[in-house]
Amino acid sequence: MSNVRLLLIGPPGAGKGTQAARLAEHFGIPAISTGDIFRENVKNQTELGKKAQSYMDAGENVPDSLTNDLIHDRIAQPDCADGFLLDGYPRTAAQVEALEGMLAEQSATLDAAVELVADVEVVVNRLRQRAIEQGRSDDSEDVVRHRLGVYAEQTAPLIDVFRDKDLLVTVDGLGPIEDITERILGRLQAAGVVAS
Ligand code: AMP
Repeated sequence: MSNVRLLLIGPPGAGKGTQAARLAEHFGIPAISTGDIFRENVKNQTELGKKAQSYMDAGENVPDSLTNDLIHDRIAQPDCADGFLLDGYPRTAAQVEALEGMLAEQSATLDAAVELVADVEVVVNRLRQRAIEQGRSDDSEDVVRHRLGVYAEQTAPLIDVFRDKDLLVTVDGLGPIEDITERILGRLQAAGVVAS
């Protein structure tokens, strides 16, 4: 188990979920995907799920207040005490600010923001494939295009924010899954975020 707090940032279809699971296993920390948590709540038609569903179906971000509350509660759980990996959060400037507040409450800091780079045509093709395999309602072609637009407008600017804070580690997201994990681990070691 490594005491490390990480987040993954990149467009939908960049492979964040896949890498999050592998990295979480490697470090012995929980992977926390806001998208998965929202989907689970929609499936179970909880109050949160009912509030989130229309935004998700439209490919819009769920409002910051709901998303921040969810993460606030999740990272306060005992399994997050020694670290965690966030997948798909923060997605807006307001969420970055909220996360900083939550970490400060825990006297903790973020160790790195890992950017997974993948070009638009590749992610659109991957999501087309995922739509067939998993039947996610927000993987239809028009919603995917919209999600990419929301990413470009609200989330991509955060990359500069993390760079300015000296937290950014940029990794090419193309290639075999195992290679990408190795690349990420190598970059985190080179940056001194984790021991080699
Ligand atoms: P994802 O599985 O990360 O692609 O997320 C699927 C959907 O869940 C997104 O299109 C949003 O509607 C919602 N969602 C996930 N994470 C967030 C977040 N951090 N802020 C707002 N909405 C989110």
